[in-house]
Amino acid sequence: MAAVAAAAAAAAASSTRRSLKEDLTCAICCDLFREPVMLSCMHHFCKSCISRYCRGARTPVTCPQCRREFSPMQFQTNYLVAAMVEKVRASTSDAYVKKLENQLRETLERQHVRKEDISSSIRKDKDKMNTIKRVGTDLQARVKGEFRALHRILQDEETCLLEQLRREQEEELQKAQCHLEASELAVRELESNIQLLQQAQVTLTEFPQLRPCAQVEAASDFNTNAFSNKYLAPLQYITWRRMFKSLKPGPSPLTFDVDTAHPSIYVSRDKMIAVECEVITPHKSHSKRFLQCVNILAAQSFQSGRHYWEVEVGCSPKWDLGVASEAVNRHARIKLSPESGYWTLRLRNGNEYWAGTQPWTRLQLGSPLQRIGVYLDCDERRVSFYDADEMSLLYTFCSGPRGKVFPFFSPCISDSRHKPQLIRLLHYPPVALSN
Ligand SMILES: [Zn+2]
Ligand SMILES: [Zn+2]
Repeated sequence: MAAVAAAAAAAAASSTRRSLKEDLTCAICCDLFREPVMLSCMHHFCKSCISRYCRGARTPVTCPQCRREFSPMQFQTNYLVAAMVEKVRASTSDAYVKKLENQLRETLERQHVRKEDISSSIRKDKDKMNTIKRVGTDLQARVKGEFRALHRILQDEETCLLEQLRREQEEELQKAQCHLEASELAVRELESNIQLLQQAQVTLTEFPQLRPCAQVEAASDFNTNAFSNKYLAPLQYITWRRMFKSLKPGPSPLTFDVDTAHPSIYVSRDKMIAVECEVITPHKSHSKRFLQCVNILAAQSFQSGRHYWEVEVGCSPKWDLGVASEAVNRHARIKLSPESGYWTLRLRNGNEYWAGTQPWTRLQLGSPLQRIGVYLDCDERRVSFYDADEMSLLYTFCSGPRGKVFPFFSPCISDSRHKPQLIRLLHYPPVALSN
């Protein structure tokens, strides 16, 4: 369609140009006017053509076109028509047409290229929007799944507790019911005996055969308090504590692996505290041990699934922590980076937080970190760090480790001005008592 329209437009333009050229053509020399002059009949001719014509014509002189008489006189060039002639002459010259053709072709090509560029950017925009929608939908499904799991835990807790309450209530009712029935039976027997005795009083013949009367023990009072205490508890907190154990992933109960500890690291008896000391601990030698850098690993390793753990760093001005591949070189001084098998967060000079990328990435944080959460998703190869007090995301490595990794810690060598600070593994969510 477009091609047909363009051809039609081109034909129309060409015919307009042709008729204009005809209008500006001298009827004597059949060429475009040169110094066009107008006769009284309004016809135009070249000045030289009409002058020559007049010189050779008999009087009265008539217009070569319409044969109307006119008086030869001083012909005045019509500059307006002359200018039009010049324009037509220029626009019909071969050079002009060639140049115009080139200009048109180049401009057309440029427009095509631009259109292709913009079309490809439209495709990219559409792809991007589809990706955003797809990722958003996936994430929504995941968030819903997580909350569904939480709701199920809560629902199960509620069902379990209500079932227990129902059972205890049933037991109490059953006990009371038994006592009631025994008492009623005893009353009926007594009534029957009373009747027998009353009859015997009238006849006074013999002592009646009385029914053996069942002993009914005095019923204990229903102890409302004992019954209610379990349920008038801080139910939300108790449930939250129970729920906490069902979280997937909940904080992993890590312990330090003493066999990996650099000789300057002292590990507490419960293996939950590590501290850098000036005194070298005489550890037994072990191939797993870090000998150059003041590092230590957890005893637990991960290579599939999702895992989360929390570490308290206190007020230490300098530390590194994160995850390390099992294969890291423990006998050399190594720069901590994903390339060398470490995905870490680090503190330097008391207030500079960095992600251990190559080169390091500076993190801007509002307040100093006391407790750090580390989230390892082995399947999606992500390692994320959180401020464990606010649970705000600090940094994520998106190309995390492959294969087996260990939680990694380095208390670093303490400055003589600072007293050594502990790194403590946390098994329960920290409670911010300060505010
Ligand atoms: Zn002429
Ligand atoms: Zn005429």
